[in-house]
Amino acid sequence: MIGSIKSSIKKMGKKLIWYLPSSIIIAYHRISDTPNPYGISVSPENFKEHIRILKDFQTCTASEIFSKPLTKKIAITFDDGYVDIIPALEELKRYGIKATVFIPTGLIGKKFWWDELSEIFFSKFQKLEIEIDGSRYTFDVYCEVSKNFIISLPKNFILSQNYSLSPTKFHQLSGNFPILSGRYKIKKEELLTWLYFKLKYMRLPKIEEIIKSIKEQVRDVVKFPESRVMGEKDVKHLRKLGFEIGAHTVMHEVMSILSEKEQEAEIRESKNYLESLIGEKIYGFSYPFGLKEDFLQKTVSKVKECGFDYACTGIKGVILPHQIIFKIERFMLKRFMVMNWPKQIFERKIKEFFTII
Ligand SMILES: [Zn+2]
Repeated sequence: MIGSIKSSIKKMGKKLIWYLPSSIIIAYHRISDTPNPYGISVSPENFKEHIRILKDFQTCTASEIFSKPLTKKIAITFDDGYVDIIPALEELKRYGIKATVFIPTGLIGKKFWWDELSEIFFSKFQKLEIEIDGSRYTFDVYCEVSKNFIISLPKNFILSQNYSLSPTKFHQLSGNFPILSGRYKIKKEELLTWLYFKLKYMRLPKIEEIIKSIKEQVRDVVKFPESRVMGEKDVKHLRKLGFEIGAHTVMHEVMSILSEKEQEAEIRESKNYLESLIGEKIYGFSYPFGLKEDFLQKTVSKVKECGFDYACTGIKGVILPHQIIFKIERFMLKRFMVMNWPKQIFERKIKEFFTII
């Protein structure tokens, strides 16, 4: 029955779908001018413009998507708990706009590995030697990373079954990537892209080891002090302002590469930690990285078992009225990532989002 509701909605056409009392969940990460090659920063200036658009909609926390009445709603979420979202959330508060913040509890007050990588790549170096999985690479790099550069996978790139990115495959698809271990001349931006996707599907101690060895080869590493997770005090402060706090695992590893036991520990411990920090039940969870290759059906089951009420993914899609009424697919809620869009584009995107099934 529910499947047929979805297919009849699909037939309605985008213009009509807009008039349904559906909801969307939008996801921010950082509100900052710090260069961010991962495309997850919205400038404070653009964020102010987003607020002007959002204030004309009914906004809510992710939890409130399922609360009555059934109206068109936008749930606002912030993943990763970056310290630079605090002024942005204070601004939202002034407009009476609610939001949910998902925190990786083991990284409170610390830096993510990809931000350390970004600091290294915005520093000056000409040569890098890297050993990954027994392969030794020497890279002669040229061309600095531009401030607006955003990494992206080559078109049609499909991750192999064990999630390891083979440089050979990468080379076939992008046409300009190193094939085997050896010495290569490479643009800094390309190297950063390859390294990011290579490291993303590795375990944390290994990632840290590789980053440490790279860091030792670069003199005067640039520092981006805002590229860190907020502290415990900040989490409490945001809760006091009325924002919902949700869990985002402990160490923000890709869930699909962890054992079942490890996944459960990551999910359960982040919930327990936040509950004792703020003294309240935590209802919401957000899958790290959140794409379909980043978590498994087993991960979804564990989130349910650990007593959460809902979970957000990074998969795009609107939350249709029948989903809200029957509370279905609550542990795989779709969301839309917000990029650094100026006002007109943001406004257009929001309207589009409500029609993407
Ligand atoms: Zn995250």
